[in-house]
Amino acid sequence: MDAMKIAFIGLGLMGYPMAGHLARTLETLIWNRSAEKAVSHAQEFGSRVAGSIADAAQSDILFTCLPTSKEVLELLPHIITGAKAGLIWVDCTSGDPASARQIALSLEAHGIRFLDAPVSGGVKGAINGKLTVMVGGDADTLETVRPALETFAAKIVHCGPIGAGMAVKAANQALLGVNILALSEVLLGLERQGVTSRTALEVINSSSGRSNVSQNLFPERVIGRAFPNTFSLKLMTKDVRIAAQSLREQQIPSPVTALTEQLLEVALRELGDVDHVAAAQLLERWAGLELGVE
Ligand code: NDP
Repeated sequence: MDAMKIAFIGLGLMGYPMAGHLARTLETLIWNRSAEKAVSHAQEFGSRVAGSIADAAQSDILFTCLPTSKEVLELLPHIITGAKAGLIWVDCTSGDPASARQIALSLEAHGIRFLDAPVSGGVKGAINGKLTVMVGGDADTLETVRPALETFAAKIVHCGPIGAGMAVKAANQALLGVNILALSEVLLGLERQGVTSRTALEVINSSSGRSNVSQNLFPERVIGRAFPNTFSLKLMTKDVRIAAQSLREQQIPSPVTALTEQLLEVALRELGDVDHVAAAQLLERWAGLELGVE
């Protein structure tokens, strides 16, 4: 494994620390659209800046972590041009399953193996190296890249064929969206009746309605009125759009996901590209009430 050459493209909020964990143990090339992030990454973690995307593809395992499948598809010709023989491309973007299948198919003719491997656990999980990775694609290929994934993951789950990782990720994000919107409206209703959100969460968080949103996100961000932008509303809306689209394609009646998608699209238009938890502010505006003001 030591001889394995790794490359990482996309040093955003997630990619920067993920590539940092890789660089601590393995020889890691990095490339980022804004070059200054790559330079500071190299200084911080001892990674090496690749001259181009094609140069980064001169590796054994290439990671990408970009906003959407659209940006990943743009890399495709450069990666095919530069690919080292036997390259495995692991895409950690929360992309869409159909694009993952399209990419894998295009790469097949060039002998490049592909896995979709989106992650969950947020920026905190990325910094602590405790992400969950959900993988779609060939199980043997996953075993080859597992030691590299383990540098930033606490849990790695093989979900099924190509696209399965992306599909599971989108489903998880739909649940996150549902929880943010549903919790916002019930807390607004309780505040109107004189119950503070702090008190309501004390009960909910030791009862059956609790979720990651009620336990970890709302206390800091909605009640504390601090909305650090760790995961943008734009990216979450993209994820829920993928989930809703995929449910429609499978002809599964999905009114809850469809409504969540529509509400998030409105929130994104009205609030701009804020942190995802700030979607609560859409319902606050409609109610004419701000949560957590005691
Ligand atoms: P960021 O917006 O922080 O980073 C995006 C990265 O993609 C940056 O490196 C950016 O480069 C690069 N990029 C954007 N557009 C292009 C392009 N056209 N060509 C090349 N590079 C491009 O996103 P995150 O790190 O937050 O998210 C990355 C992925 O991970 C997304 O799919 C997201 O949904 C998912 N995710 C995010 C989580 C989070 O909590 N933030 C949690 C789990 C998954 P530049 O620096 O130049 O802008």
